[in-house]
Amino acid sequence: MNRADYGQTQLMNSDTTIQATPPRSGLRSFHYHWQWHLKASPETLWPLVADTNRFNRDTGVPAIKKQGTERLNNARRQLRLVRLGVPIEWEEEPFEWVRPFRYGVARHYHSGPVAEMRILTELTPLEDGSTELTYEVWATPRNLFGLIAIPAQVGIISARAFARTFRAYDQIAASGKSFVDSPGQVDFMPGGRERLNALCDRLLEEGANPDIVAHMRTLIQTGDSLALAKMQPYALADHWGVERRDVLEHHLMATRRGLLEMEWDVLCPNCRGAKQVGKSLGDLSSEVHCETCNMDFKVNFERSVELSFHPNPSIRESQTAEFCIAGPQTTPHVVVQQLLPPGAERTVKPLLEYGRYRLRTMNLRGGEYLRAAKDGLNDITLRASKIDGWPDGEVVIDSNPTLRFKNNTDEEQLFILERLAWSDHAVTAAEVTVLQMFRDLFASEALRPGQQISVGSLAIVFTDLRGSTRLYNQIGDAPAFGLVMDHFDVLKNAIAEEGGAIIKTIGDAVMAVFQRPAPALRAMLRAQAEFTDTLGHHPVKLKAGIHYGPCIAVTLNDRLDYFGSTINKASRLEGFSSGEDVIISKAVFDDPEVDALLHSGSYNAEVFETQIKGFDDQFALWRVMGQA
Ligand SMILES: [Zn+2]
Repeated sequence: MNRADYGQTQLMNSDTTIQATPPRSGLRSFHYHWQWHLKASPETLWPLVADTNRFNRDTGVPAIKKQGTERLNNARRQLRLVRLGVPIEWEEEPFEWVRPFRYGVARHYHSGPVAEMRILTELTPLEDGSTELTYEVWATPRNLFGLIAIPAQVGIISARAFARTFRAYDQIAASGKSFVDSPGQVDFMPGGRERLNALCDRLLEEGANPDIVAHMRTLIQTGDSLALAKMQPYALADHWGVERRDVLEHHLMATRRGLLEMEWDVLCPNCRGAKQVGKSLGDLSSEVHCETCNMDFKVNFERSVELSFHPNPSIRESQTAEFCIAGPQTTPHVVVQQLLPPGAERTVKPLLEYGRYRLRTMNLRGGEYLRAAKDGLNDITLRASKIDGWPDGEVVIDSNPTLRFKNNTDEEQLFILERLAWSDHAVTAAEVTVLQMFRDLFASEALRPGQQISVGSLAIVFTDLRGSTRLYNQIGDAPAFGLVMDHFDVLKNAIAEEGGAIIKTIGDAVMAVFQRPAPALRAMLRAQAEFTDTLGHHPVKLKAGIHYGPCIAVTLNDRLDYFGSTINKASRLEGFSSGEDVIISKAVFDDPEVDALLHSGSYNAEVFETQIKGFDDQFALWRVMGQA
């Protein structure tokens, strides 16, 4: 069907409309325009259809390779693939998109039958919540071979693959599923299935949760190889409707048993690309360079180191090949990306979740801060200017605002509007390294000697036994030693239950660490109560103190340890404990979650002023006790 008016769209129920415009003279451009009516909404379809890496694989595009190391302006890339034995090289413009309505990209080929190719995908919401999806391709042949190859490859072969793939994605989206559930490419290694079953059975024998093991077994048996390349325990837990920490702990157990492998990714704080990948914390260095942003950054465990898992390669090969490297889903926090020539202006209308955003360009420092909220502005002009810089403050905008981008510079600018919140699906190094199970199973996971990495704020607990000498005198060495050992079990259980970990023991003293102060306080109050229950008739008591603040991770005696003034101060607090109270610092007392705990009616907190050895000023500390 020839059409001159290829801008026009036409909807024919659920049928595909194909409109090819052959070149009218010589080697002019081909234009293809397909249209589908899909059941799911643009928001639900977006994570699937904007995953161009998977889309390219599913529509038969061969794996690609990056070419050269030269840094091109505005994230342009030199890429290469081999199709039917013919190497094809091209320069790729940055992808442009407006979430969840539109994305496109242009490619300029250096070799092969095609000179230029441009694609544009649009998702138009319909009134009944469904979507009209259009997919357009413009292709200019380089030579006579291209004149034949384009209609054959794009017009026939790809066209069928596009239709099949969009329909399949719509099925997944409309049934509320994700790529995790959809069967795809499964490549077992020889003996891989047997190994998978044997290791799952082994986990069950060791007391693993049968539901979680069943989910993991099914995922590894049938899951698509791309979905298995980066298994995120929290995302899987939410999807399966199971506790997040349970799923994370099962991933750790499965890794210890050889079913899974860990991957640590160091993300650039600016563009969030993975700039360093390691199998162990020891593979990471504390300073990393991002070539995309052209900047060095200090690694921070709190947000820039993420842990993911994939099947052990002796069971299944997970997909490591890349089919598209810069589509919208490679940076899902970026909601709008647009390339504007000098002096240009462009209007976009994205759909935003409530929250904080930053507009930046690749070549200018800083950015403009925005917040999507109720009653925000619904029409706003945002200017990139070298002279004026970005405006201060934070503009409140609507969730579906009209944004006018203006490039007031004399250079091309890549406008990037990004959500500031980090994914809450990611397991960060800071979280996992304070888990008791991680420290038990991966005792040798430590940083490279000499590396120091900021881990953000942690709650640090020190405990000691009061009256242990009297205990030894009273009941004799062997029974007393038994009781002291029991005390470690009580403490360790209470700590693990609240998501913390014992870092080290020094004689009868213990140092433990938690992500947040409230679980640390709960764990100590519980340990003390249990102590009184079981050892009440002995003179021995558990003293405990908690402080909260920024810490640095290091490797000490081959183990992951922490240091900094937070640790020094924390170590002094248990000295003020009578053994029937937990001493907390102001930083712990001021924490909102602790405040709620102290107002629950179960506890008493008494303030007192004191001096701490090694610190000059008087300090306020609180003595927390259970209500009698
Ligand atoms: Zn970067």
